[in-house]
Amino acid sequence: MSSLTGGSYPPALDAALEKERLVQIIKDWSIAHGLAVRPPPTVANYDPEGILAINAPVTLFPSPFPKSCFEEAKTIQTTYNELYARISQDEGFLGEIVQEVAAGDEFIANLWNVHARVKKEGYIQNLALGLFRSDYMVHQNSGALQIKQVEFNTIASSFGGLSSQTSLLHKHLAQTEYHLLKDAIPPSTLDLPDNQSTRGLAGGLKAAFDAYGKSAIGHQTCVIFLVQGGERNVFDQRHLEYELQASQTPAFRLSFSDILVRTSIADSPQRELLYHLPSNPSHVFEVAVVYLRAGYGPGDYPDASAWEGRFQVERSRAITCPSVLTQLAGMKKVQQVLTDVAVPPSGSSHPPLARFIADETKIAALNRTFTAIFPLDTSPAGLEARELAKDPKRCLSYVMKPQREGGGNNFYRSAIPAHLKTIPEEHWGSFILMELIVPPPLSNTILRAGKLEQGGVICELGVYGTCLWDQGRREILHNEESGYLLRTKGDQSEEGGVAAGFGCMDSVALV
Ligand code: ADP
Ligand code: MG
Ligand code: MG
Repeated sequence: MSSLTGGSYPPALDAALEKERLVQIIKDWSIAHGLAVRPPPTVANYDPEGILAINAPVTLFPSPFPKSCFEEAKTIQTTYNELYARISQDEGFLGEIVQEVAAGDEFIANLWNVHARVKKEGYIQNLALGLFRSDYMVHQNSGALQIKQVEFNTIASSFGGLSSQTSLLHKHLAQTEYHLLKDAIPPSTLDLPDNQSTRGLAGGLKAAFDAYGKSAIGHQTCVIFLVQGGERNVFDQRHLEYELQASQTPAFRLSFSDILVRTSIADSPQRELLYHLPSNPSHVFEVAVVYLRAGYGPGDYPDASAWEGRFQVERSRAITCPSVLTQLAGMKKVQQVLTDVAVPPSGSSHPPLARFIADETKIAALNRTFTAIFPLDTSPAGLEARELAKDPKRCLSYVMKPQREGGGNNFYRSAIPAHLKTIPEEHWGSFILMELIVPPPLSNTILRAGKLEQGGVICELGVYGTCLWDQGRREILHNEESGYLLRTKGDQSEEGGVAAGFGCMDSVALV
Protein backbone atom coordinates (compact mmCIF):
# COMPACT_ATOMS: atom_id res chain seq x y z
CA MET A 1 0.00 0.00 0.00
CA SER A 2 1.64 3.19 -1.16
CA SER A 3 0.52 5.21 1.91
CA LEU A 4 2.98 3.13 3.97
CA THR A 5 5.94 3.89 1.76
CA GLY A 6 5.89 7.69 2.02
CA GLY A 7 8.31 7.76 4.96
CA SER A 8 5.80 8.39 7.77
CA TYR A 9 5.24 4.68 8.51
CA PRO A 10 6.01 3.27 10.99
CA PRO A 11 5.64 6.40 13.14
CA ALA A 12 8.59 7.22 15.45
CA LEU A 13 6.20 8.09 18.35
CA ASP A 14 7.53 11.30 19.92
CA ALA A 15 4.88 11.51 22.64
CA ALA A 16 5.93 9.72 25.82
CA LEU A 17 2.36 8.87 26.74
CA GLU A 18 1.71 7.21 23.40
CA LYS A 19 4.82 5.08 23.79
CA GLU A 20 3.89 4.18 27.32
CA ARG A 21 0.40 3.07 26.34
CA LEU A 22 1.56 0.94 23.41
CA VAL A 23 4.31 -0.67 25.50
CA GLN A 24 1.86 -1.56 28.28
CA ILE A 25 -0.58 -3.12 25.81
CA ILE A 26 2.20 -5.17 24.18
CA LYS A 27 3.64 -6.32 27.50
CA ASP A 28 0.30 -7.66 28.71
CA TRP A 29 -0.91 -9.08 25.39
CA SER A 30 2.37 -10.92 24.94
CA ILE A 31 2.24 -12.66 28.29
CA ALA A 32 -1.47 -13.37 27.91
CA HIS A 33 -0.82 -15.08 24.54
CA GLY A 34 2.50 -16.83 25.12
CA LEU A 35 4.61 -14.46 23.03
CA ALA A 36 7.24 -15.04 25.68
CA VAL A 37 10.55 -16.63 26.60
CA ARG A 38 12.07 -17.79 29.88
CA PRO A 39 14.28 -15.14 31.55
CA PRO A 40 18.06 -15.01 31.06
CA PRO A 41 20.27 -16.63 33.73
CA THR A 42 20.82 -13.31 35.59
CA VAL A 43 17.06 -13.10 36.25
CA ALA A 44 16.62 -16.85 36.59
CA ASN A 45 18.89 -16.72 39.66
CA TYR A 46 15.99 -14.99 41.44
CA ASP A 47 13.54 -17.61 40.17
CA PRO A 48 14.45 -20.88 41.91
CA GLU A 49 10.99 -22.31 41.22
CA GLY A 50 11.17 -21.59 37.48
CA ILE A 51 7.91 -19.67 37.31
CA LEU A 52 8.94 -16.56 35.40
CA ALA A 53 8.37 -15.70 31.75
CA ILE A 54 9.31 -12.47 30.00
CA ASN A 55 8.17 -10.78 26.79
CA ALA A 56 9.83 -11.91 23.58
CA PRO A 57 11.42 -8.86 21.90
CA VAL A 58 9.03 -7.40 19.27
CA THR A 59 8.64 -4.40 17.02
CA LEU A 60 5.95 -1.87 17.97
CA PHE A 61 4.69 -1.94 14.36
CA PRO A 62 4.70 -4.54 11.59
CA SER A 63 7.50 -3.65 9.16
CA PRO A 64 6.65 -2.69 5.58
CA PHE A 65 7.50 -5.58 3.27
CA PRO A 66 7.10 -5.69 -0.54
CA LYS A 67 4.08 -7.79 -1.40
CA SER A 68 5.65 -9.21 -4.57
CA CYS A 69 8.67 -10.43 -2.57
CA PHE A 70 6.45 -11.96 0.12
CA GLU A 71 4.34 -13.78 -2.47
CA GLU A 72 7.43 -15.00 -4.31
CA ALA A 73 8.96 -16.42 -1.12
CA LYS A 74 5.74 -18.22 -0.21
CA THR A 75 5.15 -19.55 -3.70
CA ILE A 76 8.63 -21.01 -4.08
CA GLN A 77 8.58 -22.84 -0.73
CA THR A 78 7.14 -26.12 -2.04
CA THR A 79 9.87 -26.16 -4.72
CA TYR A 80 12.49 -25.64 -2.01
CA ASN A 81 10.90 -28.45 0.03
CA GLU A 82 11.14 -30.72 -2.98
CA LEU A 83 14.74 -29.66 -3.67
CA TYR A 84 15.88 -30.45 -0.13
CA ALA A 85 13.96 -33.74 -0.05
CA ARG A 86 15.82 -34.74 -3.24
CA ILE A 87 19.19 -33.63 -1.84
CA SER A 88 18.54 -35.69 1.30
CA GLN A 89 17.88 -38.72 -0.92
CA ASP A 90 21.20 -38.21 -2.75
CA GLU A 91 23.77 -39.78 -0.46
CA GLY A 92 26.48 -39.60 -3.15
CA PHE A 93 26.11 -35.83 -3.58
CA LEU A 94 26.10 -35.21 0.18
CA GLY A 95 29.00 -37.60 0.73
CA GLU A 96 31.16 -35.67 -1.71
CA ILE A 97 30.42 -32.37 0.01
CA VAL A 98 30.97 -33.82 3.47
CA GLN A 99 34.36 -35.07 2.32
CA GLU A 100 35.32 -31.55 1.29
CA VAL A 101 34.57 -30.04 4.71
CA ALA A 102 35.14 -32.96 7.10
CA ALA A 103 38.91 -32.51 7.42
CA GLY A 104 38.39 -29.08 8.99
CA ASP A 105 35.11 -29.87 10.70
CA GLU A 106 34.94 -32.70 13.20
CA PHE A 107 31.25 -32.11 13.93
CA ILE A 108 30.23 -32.70 10.32
CA ALA A 109 32.53 -35.74 10.19
CA ASN A 110 30.85 -37.16 13.31
CA LEU A 111 27.37 -36.59 11.87
CA TRP A 112 28.33 -38.44 8.70
CA ASN A 113 29.70 -41.23 10.84
CA VAL A 114 26.27 -41.69 12.49
CA HIS A 115 24.71 -42.05 9.05
CA ALA A 116 27.43 -44.47 7.90
CA ARG A 117 26.92 -46.71 10.94
CA VAL A 118 23.16 -46.90 10.41
CA LYS A 119 23.58 -47.50 6.70
CA LYS A 120 25.86 -50.44 7.40
CA GLU A 121 23.17 -52.03 9.53
CA GLY A 122 20.43 -50.93 7.11
CA TYR A 123 17.88 -48.18 7.70
CA ILE A 124 14.58 -49.57 8.97
CA GLN A 125 12.56 -46.39 8.34
CA ASN A 126 12.30 -44.98 4.83
CA LEU A 127 10.12 -42.00 5.66
CA ALA A 128 11.80 -38.69 6.49
CA LEU A 129 10.25 -35.45 7.69
CA GLY A 130 11.51 -31.91 7.14
CA LEU A 131 10.26 -28.88 9.04
CA PHE A 132 12.21 -26.39 6.97
CA ARG A 133 12.66 -22.61 6.94
CA SER A 134 14.05 -20.71 3.98
CA ASP A 135 15.38 -17.27 5.00
CA TYR A 136 15.59 -14.22 2.76
CA MET A 137 16.39 -10.55 2.68
CA VAL A 138 15.07 -8.09 0.12
CA HIS A 139 17.70 -7.00 -2.33
CA GLN A 140 17.42 -3.84 -4.37
CA ASN A 141 18.81 -4.13 -7.87
CA SER A 142 18.54 -0.91 -9.93
CA GLY A 143 15.11 -0.18 -8.49
CA ALA A 144 13.73 -3.72 -8.74
CA LEU A 145 13.13 -5.58 -5.49
CA GLN A 146 14.05 -9.25 -5.31
CA ILE A 147 14.25 -11.76 -2.44
CA LYS A 148 17.71 -13.24 -1.95
CA GLN A 149 18.20 -16.34 0.17
CA VAL A 150 20.30 -16.01 3.32
CA GLU A 151 20.19 -19.70 4.13
CA PHE A 152 18.00 -22.80 4.17
CA ASN A 153 17.41 -24.44 7.57
CA THR A 154 16.79 -28.17 7.73
CA ILE A 155 17.05 -28.68 11.50
CA ALA A 156 15.35 -27.03 14.51
CA SER A 157 13.89 -24.20 12.40
CA SER A 158 12.59 -22.13 15.26
CA PHE A 159 10.09 -19.33 16.01
CA GLY A 160 7.13 -20.80 14.12
CA GLY A 161 5.24 -20.98 17.42
CA LEU A 162 5.96 -17.36 18.37
CA SER A 163 5.63 -16.04 14.84
CA SER A 164 1.91 -16.71 14.43
CA GLN A 165 1.43 -15.01 17.82
CA THR A 166 3.42 -11.97 16.65
CA SER A 167 1.18 -11.65 13.60
CA LEU A 168 -1.85 -11.80 15.92
CA LEU A 169 -0.31 -9.13 18.21
CA HIS A 170 0.19 -6.71 15.33
CA LYS A 171 -3.32 -7.42 14.02
CA HIS A 172 -4.66 -6.71 17.50
CA LEU A 173 -2.75 -3.41 17.71
CA ALA A 174 -3.98 -2.45 14.23
CA GLN A 175 -7.57 -3.06 15.32
CA THR A 176 -7.43 -1.40 18.72
CA GLU A 177 -4.46 0.98 19.06
CA TYR A 178 -2.78 2.37 15.94
CA HIS A 179 -5.81 4.42 14.90
CA LEU A 180 -5.77 6.16 18.30
CA LEU A 181 -2.26 7.54 17.78
CA LYS A 182 -1.65 11.23 16.97
CA ASP A 183 -0.45 10.00 13.55
CA ALA A 184 -3.46 7.74 13.27
CA ILE A 185 -3.11 4.59 11.16
CA PRO A 186 -6.59 3.43 10.10
CA PRO A 187 -6.87 -0.39 10.20
CA SER A 188 -7.81 -0.45 6.52
CA THR A 189 -4.38 0.92 5.47
CA LEU A 190 -2.50 -2.08 6.87
CA ASP A 191 -2.37 -5.25 4.77
CA LEU A 192 -1.49 -7.87 7.41
CA PRO A 193 -1.60 -11.41 5.97
CA ASP A 194 -2.64 -14.39 8.08
CA ASN A 195 0.20 -16.44 9.47
CA GLN A 196 -0.53 -20.10 10.21
CA SER A 197 3.02 -21.09 11.19
CA THR A 198 2.01 -22.91 14.38
CA ARG A 199 -0.74 -24.85 12.66
CA GLY A 200 1.42 -25.52 9.60
CA LEU A 201 4.40 -26.93 11.50
CA ALA A 202 2.20 -29.02 13.80
CA GLY A 203 0.45 -30.24 10.65
CA GLY A 204 3.78 -31.51 9.31
CA LEU A 205 4.43 -33.43 12.53
CA LYS A 206 0.89 -34.83 12.40
CA ALA A 207 1.33 -35.99 8.80
CA ALA A 208 4.42 -37.98 9.81
CA PHE A 209 2.70 -39.31 12.93
CA ASP A 210 -0.21 -40.58 10.83
CA ALA A 211 2.07 -42.03 8.15
CA TYR A 212 3.97 -44.04 10.78
CA GLY A 213 0.83 -46.05 11.47
CA LYS A 214 -0.15 -48.15 14.46
CA SER A 215 2.28 -49.94 16.74
CA ALA A 216 2.78 -53.58 15.76
CA ILE A 217 3.81 -54.42 19.32
CA GLY A 218 0.78 -53.08 21.13
CA HIS A 219 1.93 -49.65 22.35
CA GLN A 220 0.38 -46.24 21.96
CA THR A 221 2.41 -44.11 19.53
CA CYS A 222 3.73 -40.61 20.31
CA VAL A 223 5.85 -37.70 19.09
CA ILE A 224 9.04 -36.77 20.97
CA PHE A 225 10.35 -33.20 21.01
CA LEU A 226 14.11 -33.55 21.57
CA VAL A 227 15.15 -30.37 23.32
CA GLN A 228 18.11 -28.69 25.00
CA GLY A 229 18.29 -28.57 28.79
CA GLY A 230 17.50 -25.07 30.10
CA GLU A 231 15.89 -23.98 26.79
CA ARG A 232 14.71 -20.36 27.12
CA ASN A 233 12.67 -20.44 23.92
CA VAL A 234 10.39 -23.11 25.38
CA PHE A 235 7.03 -21.44 24.62
CA ASP A 236 7.83 -21.36 20.91
CA GLN A 237 8.09 -25.15 21.13
CA ARG A 238 5.11 -25.52 23.45
CA HIS A 239 2.79 -23.79 20.96
CA LEU A 240 3.56 -26.57 18.46
CA GLU A 241 3.18 -29.23 21.11
CA TYR A 242 -0.23 -27.92 22.24
CA GLU A 243 -1.44 -27.70 18.64
CA LEU A 244 -0.37 -31.30 18.10
CA GLN A 245 -1.94 -32.52 21.33
CA ALA A 246 -5.20 -30.82 20.34
CA SER A 247 -5.38 -33.36 17.50
CA GLN A 248 -5.17 -36.32 19.91
CA THR A 249 -1.46 -36.84 19.33
CA PRO A 250 0.56 -37.68 22.46
CA ALA A 251 3.69 -35.50 22.55
CA PHE A 252 6.51 -35.41 25.10
CA ARG A 253 9.57 -33.26 25.65
CA LEU A 254 12.84 -35.10 26.13
CA SER A 255 16.25 -33.60 26.80
CA PHE A 256 18.80 -34.51 24.14
CA SER A 257 21.14 -35.61 26.94
CA ASP A 258 18.49 -38.07 28.26
CA ILE A 259 17.95 -40.08 25.06
CA LEU A 260 19.76 -43.14 26.36
CA VAL A 261 18.13 -42.81 29.80
CA ARG A 262 14.52 -42.52 28.65
CA THR A 263 14.40 -44.43 25.39
CA SER A 264 15.30 -47.92 24.28
CA ILE A 265 15.08 -49.99 21.14
CA ALA A 266 12.48 -52.76 21.21
CA ASP A 267 13.73 -56.31 21.11
CA SER A 268 12.30 -56.79 17.63
CA PRO A 269 13.65 -56.78 14.06
CA GLN A 270 11.66 -53.58 13.45
CA ARG A 271 13.79 -51.61 15.96
CA GLU A 272 10.87 -49.62 17.38
CA LEU A 273 11.98 -46.69 19.56
CA LEU A 274 10.36 -46.92 22.99
CA TYR A 275 9.85 -43.96 25.30
CA HIS A 276 9.61 -44.69 29.02
CA LEU A 277 7.54 -42.09 30.82
CA PRO A 278 9.82 -40.73 33.59
CA SER A 279 6.95 -40.37 36.05
CA ASN A 280 5.88 -43.97 35.42
CA PRO A 281 8.65 -45.93 33.65
CA SER A 282 6.47 -49.01 33.14
CA HIS A 283 4.24 -46.87 30.90
CA VAL A 284 5.84 -47.23 27.47
CA PHE A 285 5.04 -45.38 24.25
CA GLU A 286 6.29 -46.24 20.77
CA VAL A 287 7.90 -43.18 19.21
CA ALA A 288 6.50 -42.45 15.75
CA VAL A 289 8.28 -39.13 15.20
CA VAL A 290 11.38 -37.57 16.76
CA TYR A 291 11.39 -33.79 16.27
CA LEU A 292 14.85 -32.36 16.98
CA ARG A 293 15.02 -28.91 18.53
CA ALA A 294 18.52 -29.85 19.69
CA GLY A 295 21.48 -31.71 18.26
CA TYR A 296 22.23 -29.10 15.57
CA GLY A 297 25.57 -28.00 17.04
CA PRO A 298 28.63 -29.46 18.78
CA GLY A 299 27.50 -28.11 22.17
CA ASP A 300 24.84 -30.82 22.39
CA TYR A 301 27.47 -33.57 21.98
CA PRO A 302 29.84 -33.15 24.94
CA ASP A 303 30.85 -36.82 24.95
CA ALA A 304 30.62 -40.12 23.09
CA SER A 305 27.36 -41.09 24.79
CA ALA A 306 25.61 -38.04 23.25
CA TRP A 307 26.60 -39.40 19.82
CA GLU A 308 25.33 -42.83 20.86
CA GLY A 309 21.99 -41.17 21.69
CA ARG A 310 21.79 -39.64 18.22
CA PHE A 311 22.73 -43.02 16.74
CA GLN A 312 19.96 -44.74 18.72
CA VAL A 313 17.35 -42.35 17.29
CA GLU A 314 18.72 -42.61 13.75
CA ARG A 315 18.80 -46.41 13.66
CA SER A 316 15.34 -46.77 15.15
CA ARG A 317 12.05 -47.12 13.32
CA ALA A 318 10.96 -43.60 14.38
CA ILE A 319 10.58 -41.01 11.62
CA THR A 320 13.28 -38.42 12.32
CA CYS A 321 12.83 -34.70 11.76
CA PRO A 322 15.42 -34.36 10.48
CA SER A 323 17.43 -37.47 9.62
CA VAL A 324 21.22 -37.04 9.67
CA LEU A 325 21.26 -36.77 5.87
CA THR A 326 18.56 -34.08 5.92
CA GLN A 327 20.49 -32.18 8.58
CA LEU A 328 23.60 -32.37 6.37
CA ALA A 329 21.59 -31.13 3.39
CA GLY A 330 21.32 -27.85 5.33
CA MET A 331 25.09 -27.27 5.27
CA LYS A 332 26.05 -23.85 3.94
CA LYS A 333 28.43 -25.69 1.65
CA VAL A 334 25.43 -27.37 -0.04
CA GLN A 335 23.86 -23.94 -0.58
CA GLN A 336 27.13 -22.75 -2.12
CA VAL A 337 27.30 -25.70 -4.50
CA LEU A 338 23.66 -25.20 -5.54
CA THR A 339 24.14 -21.52 -6.31
CA ASP A 340 27.09 -22.36 -8.49
CA VAL A 341 25.45 -22.46 -11.91
CA ALA A 342 28.76 -22.75 -13.72
CA VAL A 343 30.51 -25.64 -12.04
CA PRO A 344 28.82 -29.04 -11.94
CA PRO A 345 29.79 -31.28 -9.01
CA SER A 346 32.39 -33.81 -10.06
CA GLY A 347 30.97 -36.91 -11.66
CA SER A 348 28.00 -35.00 -13.07
CA SER A 349 27.59 -33.25 -16.37
CA HIS A 350 24.64 -31.13 -15.21
CA PRO A 351 24.57 -27.93 -13.20
CA PRO A 352 23.76 -28.91 -9.63
CA LEU A 353 20.10 -27.82 -9.58
CA ALA A 354 19.23 -29.91 -12.62
CA ARG A 355 20.39 -32.98 -10.75
CA PHE A 356 17.43 -32.52 -8.38
CA ILE A 357 14.74 -30.53 -10.19
CA ALA A 358 13.68 -31.31 -13.74
CA ASP A 359 11.32 -28.40 -14.41
CA GLU A 360 13.15 -25.47 -16.08
CA THR A 361 10.68 -22.91 -14.72
CA LYS A 362 11.29 -24.10 -11.17
CA ILE A 363 15.07 -23.97 -11.71
CA ALA A 364 14.82 -20.40 -12.97
CA ALA A 365 12.67 -19.43 -9.99
CA LEU A 366 15.20 -20.93 -7.56
CA ASN A 367 18.08 -19.23 -9.36
CA ARG A 368 16.41 -15.83 -8.96
CA THR A 369 16.63 -16.20 -5.16
CA PHE A 370 20.36 -16.99 -5.13
CA THR A 371 23.11 -14.55 -4.30
CA ALA A 372 26.80 -15.17 -4.99
CA ILE A 373 28.46 -17.73 -2.70
CA PHE A 374 32.04 -18.90 -3.22
CA PRO A 375 33.96 -21.91 -1.96
CA LEU A 376 37.19 -21.31 -0.04
CA ASP A 377 38.79 -24.52 -1.28
CA THR A 378 41.59 -25.08 -3.78
CA SER A 379 39.39 -25.05 -6.89
CA PRO A 380 40.04 -22.10 -9.25
CA ALA A 381 36.92 -20.32 -7.88
CA GLY A 382 38.05 -21.12 -4.34
CA LEU A 383 41.57 -19.74 -4.87
CA GLU A 384 40.08 -16.55 -6.27
CA ALA A 385 37.75 -16.24 -3.28
CA ARG A 386 40.69 -16.76 -0.91
CA GLU A 387 42.41 -13.69 -2.38
CA LEU A 388 39.21 -11.74 -1.89
CA ALA A 389 38.78 -12.94 1.70
CA LYS A 390 42.37 -12.00 2.62
CA ASP A 391 42.05 -8.50 1.18
CA PRO A 392 41.03 -6.00 3.91
CA LYS A 393 39.27 -3.80 1.34
CA ARG A 394 37.51 -6.32 -0.89
CA CYS A 395 36.27 -8.48 1.99
CA LEU A 396 34.02 -5.67 3.26
CA SER A 397 30.95 -6.79 1.32
CA TYR A 398 31.18 -10.45 2.39
CA VAL A 399 30.34 -12.81 5.22
CA MET A 400 32.32 -15.97 5.89
CA LYS A 401 30.38 -18.95 7.25
CA PRO A 402 31.35 -22.30 8.76
CA GLN A 403 29.00 -25.32 8.64
CA ARG A 404 27.10 -24.32 11.77
CA GLU A 405 23.56 -23.44 12.87
CA GLY A 406 21.98 -21.39 15.60
CA GLY A 407 23.55 -17.97 15.11
CA GLY A 408 26.77 -16.37 16.32
CA ASN A 409 29.10 -18.48 14.16
CA ASN A 410 29.82 -16.22 11.18
CA PHE A 411 32.58 -13.72 10.43
CA TYR A 412 31.63 -10.44 8.87
CA ARG A 413 33.44 -7.97 6.64
CA SER A 414 36.71 -6.77 8.18
CA ALA A 415 36.80 -9.69 10.64
CA ILE A 416 37.29 -12.19 7.80
CA PRO A 417 41.06 -11.84 7.06
CA ALA A 418 42.03 -11.96 10.73
CA HIS A 419 39.95 -15.06 11.35
CA LEU A 420 41.36 -16.84 8.31
CA LYS A 421 44.83 -16.35 9.77
CA THR A 422 43.82 -18.38 12.85
CA ILE A 423 42.83 -21.41 10.73
CA PRO A 424 45.32 -23.75 9.06
CA GLU A 425 45.06 -23.14 5.33
CA GLU A 426 44.23 -26.77 4.59
CA HIS A 427 40.98 -26.27 6.54
CA TRP A 428 39.77 -23.11 4.77
CA GLY A 429 37.66 -25.30 2.50
CA SER A 430 35.22 -25.97 5.33
CA PHE A 431 34.04 -22.32 5.12
CA ILE A 432 32.11 -20.51 2.41
CA LEU A 433 32.25 -16.85 1.44
CA MET A 434 28.92 -15.13 0.72
CA GLU A 435 28.09 -11.73 -0.69
CA LEU A 436 26.24 -9.57 1.85
CA ILE A 437 22.66 -8.75 0.92
CA VAL A 438 21.89 -5.09 1.60
CA PRO A 439 18.16 -4.47 1.96
CA PRO A 440 16.60 -1.02 1.39
CA PRO A 441 16.74 1.15 4.56
CA LEU A 442 13.80 0.89 6.98
CA SER A 443 13.14 2.07 10.49
CA ASN A 444 11.04 0.75 13.33
CA THR A 445 10.97 0.66 17.13
CA ILE A 446 11.96 -2.51 18.98
CA LEU A 447 10.71 -3.33 22.47
CA ARG A 448 13.38 -5.46 24.12
CA ALA A 449 13.58 -6.22 27.85
CA GLY A 450 11.15 -3.35 28.51
CA LYS A 451 13.31 -0.76 26.68
CA LEU A 452 12.59 0.90 23.34
CA GLU A 453 15.22 0.97 20.59
CA GLN A 454 14.27 3.28 17.74
CA GLY A 455 16.19 3.46 14.48
CA GLY A 456 17.28 1.80 11.26
CA VAL A 457 16.40 -1.88 11.00
CA ILE A 458 17.05 -4.86 8.73
CA CYS A 459 14.32 -7.44 8.18
CA GLU A 460 14.79 -11.12 7.38
CA LEU A 461 11.83 -13.12 6.10
CA GLY A 462 11.65 -16.84 6.77
CA VAL A 463 9.12 -19.11 5.09
CA TYR A 464 8.36 -22.44 6.73
CA GLY A 465 7.89 -25.60 4.73
CA THR A 466 6.82 -29.07 5.79
CA CYS A 467 7.70 -32.08 3.71
CA LEU A 468 7.35 -35.83 4.21
CA TRP A 469 9.00 -38.14 1.73
CA ASP A 470 10.22 -41.65 1.14
CA GLN A 471 14.02 -41.93 1.10
CA GLY A 472 13.91 -44.98 -1.14
CA ARG A 473 11.47 -43.80 -3.82
CA ARG A 474 10.97 -40.50 -5.58
CA GLU A 475 7.70 -40.13 -3.73
CA ILE A 476 6.75 -37.05 -1.73
CA LEU A 477 3.79 -37.71 0.56
CA HIS A 478 3.26 -34.22 1.97
CA ASN A 479 4.61 -30.89 0.71
CA GLU A 480 3.27 -27.61 2.08
CA GLU A 481 4.21 -23.99 2.63
CA SER A 482 3.58 -23.50 6.35
CA GLY A 483 3.52 -19.84 7.33
CA TYR A 484 6.24 -17.27 7.81
CA LEU A 485 8.59 -15.50 10.24
CA LEU A 486 9.77 -11.92 10.08
CA ARG A 487 12.82 -11.18 12.21
CA THR A 488 14.10 -7.67 12.54
CA LYS A 489 17.40 -6.39 13.92
CA GLY A 490 19.02 -3.02 14.40
CA ASP A 491 20.98 -2.10 11.27
CA GLN A 492 24.21 -1.91 13.31
CA SER A 493 24.01 -5.59 14.19
CA GLU A 494 25.52 -8.24 11.94
CA GLU A 495 23.62 -11.21 13.39
CA GLY A 496 19.84 -11.36 13.55
CA GLY A 497 19.04 -14.34 15.76
CA VAL A 498 16.23 -13.67 18.24
CA ALA A 499 17.41 -16.44 20.55
CA ALA A 500 21.00 -15.22 20.31
CA GLY A 501 19.75 -11.83 21.58
CA PHE A 502 20.28 -9.70 18.47
CA GLY A 503 16.99 -9.75 16.61
CA CYS A 504 13.34 -9.43 17.49
CA MET A 505 9.98 -10.79 16.34
CA ASP A 506 8.10 -8.82 13.70
CA SER A 507 5.37 -9.34 11.11
CA VAL A 508 4.85 -7.97 7.61
CA ALA A 509 2.71 -5.03 6.54
CA LEU A 510 2.55 -5.68 2.80
CA VAL A 511 3.34 -2.72 0.55
P1 ADP B 1 22.67 -19.39 11.09
O1 ADP B 1 22.43 -20.74 10.49
O2 ADP B 1 23.61 -19.43 12.23
O3 ADP B 1 21.37 -18.69 11.40
P2 ADP B 1 22.91 -17.50 8.88
O4 ADP B 1 23.50 -17.87 7.58
O5 ADP B 1 21.44 -17.36 8.91
O6 ADP B 1 23.43 -18.55 9.97
O7 ADP B 1 23.57 -16.15 9.36
C1 ADP B 1 23.18 -15.52 10.57
C2 ADP B 1 22.73 -14.10 10.31
O8 ADP B 1 23.76 -13.38 9.63
C3 ADP B 1 21.50 -13.96 9.42
O9 ADP B 1 20.31 -14.08 10.15
C4 ADP B 1 21.70 -12.56 8.85
O10 ADP B 1 21.27 -11.57 9.77
C5 ADP B 1 23.21 -12.47 8.70
N1 ADP B 1 23.60 -12.88 7.34
C6 ADP B 1 24.00 -14.10 6.95
N2 ADP B 1 24.27 -14.13 5.62
C7 ADP B 1 24.02 -12.90 5.15
C8 ADP B 1 24.12 -12.27 3.86
N3 ADP B 1 24.53 -12.94 2.79
N4 ADP B 1 23.79 -10.96 3.75
C9 ADP B 1 23.38 -10.27 4.84
N5 ADP B 1 23.28 -10.79 6.08
C10 ADP B 1 23.59 -12.09 6.25
MG1 MG C 1 19.92 -18.08 10.07
MG1 MG D 1 20.57 -21.65 10.07
